[in-house]
Amino acid sequence: MSHTKYIFVTGGVTSSLGKGIISSSLAKLLQARGFKATIQKLDPYINVDPGTLNPYEHGECYVTDDGAETDLDLGHYERFSNVPTSQANNVTTGRIYQTVIDKERKGDYLGSTVQVIPHITDEIKRSIKILGESGKYDFVITEIGGTVGDIESLPYVETVRQMRWELGEDCAVIHLTLIPYLAAAGELKTKPTQHSVKTLLEQGVQPDIIVCRTEHSLNESIRRKIARFCNVSPSSVIESIDASSIYDVPVLMRNEGLDVEVLNKTNTPIGKEPDLKDWEEFLYKLKNPSKEVNIGLVGKYVELKDAYKSINEAFVHASTRNDCKVNVVLIHSEEVLDENVDEKLKDLDGMLVAPGFGNRGIEGKITAIRYVRENKIPFLGICLGMQCAVIEFARNVLGYKDAHSTEMLEKTKHPVIDIMEEQKKISNLGGTMRLGAYQCKLDKDSRIFDVYGGIKEVNERHRHRYEFNNAYLDECKTAGLIPVGVNTKNNLVEIVELKDHPWFFGVQFHPEYKSTVAQPHPIFVDFVKAALDNKS
Ligand code: GLN
Repeated sequence: MSHTKYIFVTGGVTSSLGKGIISSSLAKLLQARGFKATIQKLDPYINVDPGTLNPYEHGECYVTDDGAETDLDLGHYERFSNVPTSQANNVTTGRIYQTVIDKERKGDYLGSTVQVIPHITDEIKRSIKILGESGKYDFVITEIGGTVGDIESLPYVETVRQMRWELGEDCAVIHLTLIPYLAAAGELKTKPTQHSVKTLLEQGVQPDIIVCRTEHSLNESIRRKIARFCNVSPSSVIESIDASSIYDVPVLMRNEGLDVEVLNKTNTPIGKEPDLKDWEEFLYKLKNPSKEVNIGLVGKYVELKDAYKSINEAFVHASTRNDCKVNVVLIHSEEVLDENVDEKLKDLDGMLVAPGFGNRGIEGKITAIRYVRENKIPFLGICLGMQCAVIEFARNVLGYKDAHSTEMLEKTKHPVIDIMEEQKKISNLGGTMRLGAYQCKLDKDSRIFDVYGGIKEVNERHRHRYEFNNAYLDECKTAGLIPVGVNTKNNLVEIVELKDHPWFFGVQFHPEYKSTVAQPHPIFVDFVKAALDNKS
């Protein structure tokens, strides 16, 4: 296509209606029609990025190849589209203001008064257009975080107003709202949607397409009513009914014609039907498993739905490659004790210890790892999970009872996990960990080499400050914990594998960030297979 089209997705009535999934589904459909699409999230909060937010506030922090700590919606974008995102795909109010204030200090505004309009809105516009101007995309889909009417999203909606005016037919606005069902009246209600569109109109934006999240099907008369009150054609009222899986949504949106509406509104030739053959095959496998396995997920945030989002989704992807359903059994690490570990873990076919920060729940993780090591239950430790596996091994196999990570016990006599020299000088917490993609060389005599399909080097994403302490490398190796993946530039151990165990790996990186529907991560695929083998 000669130039990029910009699609904005706003939300009304309530949050959590699934703007990220609608945006991802639209990108998937446009892709399936042969277009190149990317998705961007604009977050209205003042944090520069979500890296400093705890999971109670914001769920998982997702990490891109270029080391950006981002909103978890970027994970959905990648999982649906199989296209990597980058820092440019996630912008926050904090980042916009930081850039504008830096420019002001440098004198870039030549003495003018710096204001929300035009300086902040111009900076938002620049952040949106960076993606379009890269020349890589036919469509840039920009999701505006929050709900219209929020004070903090005003500059973003104002930017949409300006861009619509400037771009004309190269721009369309999708508004996602809720159509609540009043059980007592037995009716779906359109009034909140009418009000939400009015709020958008007060800010100068007329949506082109209204996507209606609903628990019940919208009949023709409701569609016509929404169209009439919100100034859109009935074909632009799109039903988004609750689905049993987020992966159903692209198919539901195709059936509702969301992609066709977007193409019409942006004056783009419709072309061929979207090819969703592989996607539908994936869905079929997802819904028709012939077996199941129980895999424990041990972490301290298990009560939070979104804290381990990418891990849960990676299991979904891997399950379809193994023709099975993975039941993720949530186990709170603080509740695992020597006295109850057998009771808590005995029904598991495999166990994953989650990433994390800080001391809370650490001993439970170590106790759980000892159990699966000794009982030969397949184990995957991710980031802190790998570090705990090393601590457990040092304590119970090497005999260093006080072995620890210096993150938890600074003065430990046996710092088997230690902070990197260059991390010691850092005082700012934001964006300063080892972040993003690093190369890792695999030992070709190891099982992990086969897991990855016989490639010598892999590229995986990191987010941590602490590392395996190479002072203990030889001892670990001799006793059976083998470094099978190493970063050859700085000799950091990235993967450990336990000898004489059916399946026991610790990885310093986060394989879950790179798992997509089209390419489930090989470590997860093999882990689920090992759990199935263990079960039988
Ligand atoms: N807290 C550990 C570190 O910083 C592990 C981090 C993680 O699991 N992402 O090294």
